Amino acid sequence: MQSSKESSAGQDTRVVLLGIGHTNAHVLDLWRREPIAEARLVCVSSFAASTYSGMLPGTLSGQYPPGRLEIDLRSLAQAARAELVVEPASGVDVEARTVLFEKHEPVPFDILSVGAGSVPNRAGIDADPEVWVPIKPMQTFLMRLYERLQEIAPQNRQELRVLVIGGGVGGIEISFCLPSYLRRVLGEVRHTITIVDAGERIGGGLSPRALPRAEALLEARGVEVITGARVTRVDDRETVCADGRRIPADLVILAAGAAPPPVLENTTLPKDSRGFLLTSETLQSTGSENVLAVGDSSTMVNASVPKAGVYAVRQGPVLWRNIGALVRGEPLSPYEPQHDFLRLLNTGDGKALMDYKGWSAHAGWCWRFKDYLDSRFMARFRVIRR
Ligand SMILES: Cc1cc2nc3c(=O)[nH]c(=O)nc-3n(C[C@H](O)[C@H](O)[C@H](O)COP(=O)(O)OP(=O)(O)OC[C@H]3O[C@@H](n4cnc5c(N)ncnc54)[C@H](O)[C@@H]3O)c2cc1C
Repeated sequence: MQSSKESSAGQDTRVVLLGIGHTNAHVLDLWRREPIAEARLVCVSSFAASTYSGMLPGTLSGQYPPGRLEIDLRSLAQAARAELVVEPASGVDVEARTVLFEKHEPVPFDILSVGAGSVPNRAGIDADPEVWVPIKPMQTFLMRLYERLQEIAPQNRQELRVLVIGGGVGGIEISFCLPSYLRRVLGEVRHTITIVDAGERIGGGLSPRALPRAEALLEARGVEVITGARVTRVDDRETVCADGRRIPADLVILAAGAAPPPVLENTTLPKDSRGFLLTSETLQSTGSENVLAVGDSSTMVNASVPKAGVYAVRQGPVLWRNIGALVRGEPLSPYEPQHDFLRLLNTGDGKALMDYKGWSAHAGWCWRFKDYLDSRFMARFRVIRR
């Protein structure tokens, strides 16, 4: 799909970014350095800060102070002379070209980039919202985790049983880094950590060299791994699986898979079978040339792109070029996903587990390399006030 006359609105084209995550944040950052002439930028975000998931495990383990994983959207938007609407969008009306809200007037757009990320997959799990801590929204994860710990701590002085639902790399890193957080909040309370996953093995996407290392490290830390068990219910003290298994747990963290964020439910834009927005290789929705979709929220037709921040980040420069091209009525560029990517899992002990092209290592230098890459990424979004 290419540029259209319709979209090259020229004078005062309204560009709207819905969700300021890994990809849309890149556009906001470049806009402040080199704004697109004759266009106005509006950013819509549920929160005034965006979070960088790569630093969440390090924040849990105390390697970073809590604010370090946050991008301050107010100062970034101010520096870019962009309007910032801090309110969760509830849908997108493609015909009326507006972003919809429950508690805000609709925001009109000429060009829209949807980058609202994903939420943990809670499909088929019956849970009282009070009894578990989903990893998203990440902006409130630490606060919700802290509050849940305060609620359950008095009854769990002897031993705290933690269950992490989802054995992907996110769930594994959380299991590595959580103990240090528990010690900081609760003191030296005894605890157990269990990962439960519906698949036959945890660590989806890890190479055959890295996965056994991750499993061995978990075992050495005393983390129990239960596979082939699909959770169906989470109660206050117990989690129930489809096969009838019951896993006692005081604290349940939901880190399972990636499901579409609720805002995608309320739009007629074409979606894949899971509910993510379908796009062409130019990142344009297959249903509207003026709507682009990026990161976890999108699925490219005829390409297999994992829901990972690395891909979302790499889409940033293409998205930037294509928004500019749409404004100017020029041809758009394709996004070509890389075949493999570097994975660095924080193991919470001053080391990281590296997985790259079938090669794997667990060492201090891997953590320092991860810290360097993550810090460099975040530095781009720091606004120095003059
Ligand atoms: C613990 C953990 C660790 C991870 N570590 C890595 C890693 O090391 N490497 C890696 O490649 N991937 C990692 N991932 C995956 C990575 O986080 C995602 O793939 C990435 O965040 C996707 O980026 P995005 O821009 O699509 O969405 P996000 O970065 O999630 O941004 C979406 C933004 O949209 C906002 N939003 C959502 N709904 C609305 C709405 N209705 N209205 C307004 N705003 C909205 C959200 O608040 C959020 O700020 C990790 C995930 C987790 C859970």
